[in-house]
Amino acid sequence: MGLEEKLPSGFLLTTVEGLAGYFRKGSLWPATFGLACCAIEMMSTTSGRFDLARFGMEAFRASPRQADLMIVAGRVSQKMAPVLRQVYDQMAEPKWVLSMGVCASSGGMFNNYAIVQGVDHIVPVDIYLPGCPPRPEMLLNAIIELHKKIQDMPLGVNREEARAAAERAALASTPLIDIKGLLR
Ligand code: SF4
Repeated sequence: MGLEEKLPSGFLLTTVEGLAGYFRKGSLWPATFGLACCAIEMMSTTSGRFDLARFGMEAFRASPRQADLMIVAGRVSQKMAPVLRQVYDQMAEPKWVLSMGVCASSGGMFNNYAIVQGVDHIVPVDIYLPGCPPRPEMLLNAIIELHKKIQDMPLGVNREEARAAAERAALASTPLIDIKGLLR
């Protein structure tokens, strides 16, 4: 069916935010950034079998300044944490972070002093992908979920400020426990 038949009046109405979300989600460019075994699955996602190119995302950018999506694929060592943060800071706004695999999201099996117990201690995370390792299909699904999130994101929102505000609100709504009363 042609566009003329779908829109006989020739008018298509939307909002500026809706349009911006549509373009943003359709123009994601990931940064070239892989940390461990999960990165192999991430690389597979660009192959013909899984075809990340269907979203126009197969060209991982060599410069963070040309990227707006960081896929944290693998465990983050304490030594790597400042580097990760620097790459994130160099990416252009608006930008998004996908935490791929249990190690990136929570440290996973590496519950030790050398590994950051969750990349959200370093950068704000938009979407968590479980699994060890998550398969390429799972990464594609997480990207589709991220697309939905980007589509609904209001314009001009600073995500770190929004997250801090949400944390403050959650803290304010937490009922205070009378520790002295409990000990009495
Ligand atoms: S989640 Fe599994 S595959 Fe991914 S980095 Fe950790 S150990 Fe490797």
